[in-house]
Amino acid sequence: MVGPQKKVYFFFLSGAKKGKIESAPATGLIRIGRQHDSTIQLDPYEDIPASGDHAQVVCEGDDRFLLEDRGSSWGTFKNDVPVVGRVPLSTGDVITCGQDSQGRQGPKIKFYLEKDVLRCPACEGPVYKRHFKCPACAKKYCLRCIDFQTKTCKPCAPRVVTARKGTGDPGFELVEDDEEVDAKRPARVVVSGKDRGKTGEVMSVDPVAGKVIVEGVNVAKRHQKPTRSMQQGGIIDKAMPIDVSNVSLIDSSGRSTRVGYRVGADGTKSRIARTNGGEL
Ligand SMILES: [Zn+2]
Ligand SMILES: [Zn+2]
Repeated sequence: MVGPQKKVYFFFLSGAKKGKIESAPATGLIRIGRQHDSTIQLDPYEDIPASGDHAQVVCEGDDRFLLEDRGSSWGTFKNDVPVVGRVPLSTGDVITCGQDSQGRQGPKIKFYLEKDVLRCPACEGPVYKRHFKCPACAKKYCLRCIDFQTKTCKPCAPRVVTARKGTGDPGFELVEDDEEVDAKRPARVVVSGKDRGKTGEVMSVDPVAGKVIVEGVNVAKRHQKPTRSMQQGGIIDKAMPIDVSNVSLIDSSGRSTRVGYRVGADGTKSRIARTNGGEL
C-alpha cells in the first residue's frame, strides 16, 4: 500500500486563473508555463508576458523544493527578486512569471506545502484565501461547507436552527419539517387508504382522536331521524372521520406535500408547502 500522494499547491494571486488553486504531486519536476503540457498551465492568450515553458519547481524530497527559470523571455521572480539558478521555495513564497520592459507582470502564484494548507474542519478539504468564517463557531471553512439557510457552517446549522426556533430572529428564513399533518385550518387534502386519490376540504378535526372529516371521503349511509330542521329523514350520505395519517396536504399545483413553517423577518409564522414553498 502506498500512502496518499504528497502534493504541493499553487494559489493564483493574479492572471487568468486569479483566485484559483491547483495542486501537483510533490515529485519530480513541476513545470509552469503557457504550453498545454505544463503541469501548472497558464492561460496561453491572457497570461502575458509569461513564456510557454516558463519555470519549474524541482521536488527533492523531504519537503525540499527549488524554483528555477526555464529560459523564459521575461524571467521568473521569487518574492519580486529575479531567480538565478535554483532557489529554495517554501510555503508563502510568491512566484511571478515574467515582468516585461513595460512593467507588465505575468501571473503571481503563491506556493504552499501540503502540511501548511489549512484544512476545512468539516470536510478536510483545503481552505484557501477565499474561505468562509462561520459566525457561530468562528472557524474557517471551505466554500462548499456553508449552510446557506442559516448562514453558518454546516456542522453548526442544526444547532442554530434549534436555537433560533420561534425567536423570529430577523434576516433569515427558518423552515422546519413538521411530520404531522396540520389540518387545523381549512385545507385541501389528498387521501390514501380506501378513498385513495380523492381530494377534498377538511370539514372538521378531532385532535384528540387524531381524526379528520374530509368532504366527500369515507362516505357512509346513515339513517337520519326526522328533526325539526330536516323534516324528511331517511337515508343520507355522511362523511365519516378518517385517521389523520391517511391525509396529506396538497400544494397549489395539486401535489401531496409535507408542511413547513416559515418565520418571516417580522416574526410572523406562516404555513408553507415543502414542495414549492407556497403558502398553504
Ligand atoms: Zn469543507
Ligand atoms: Zn460554525
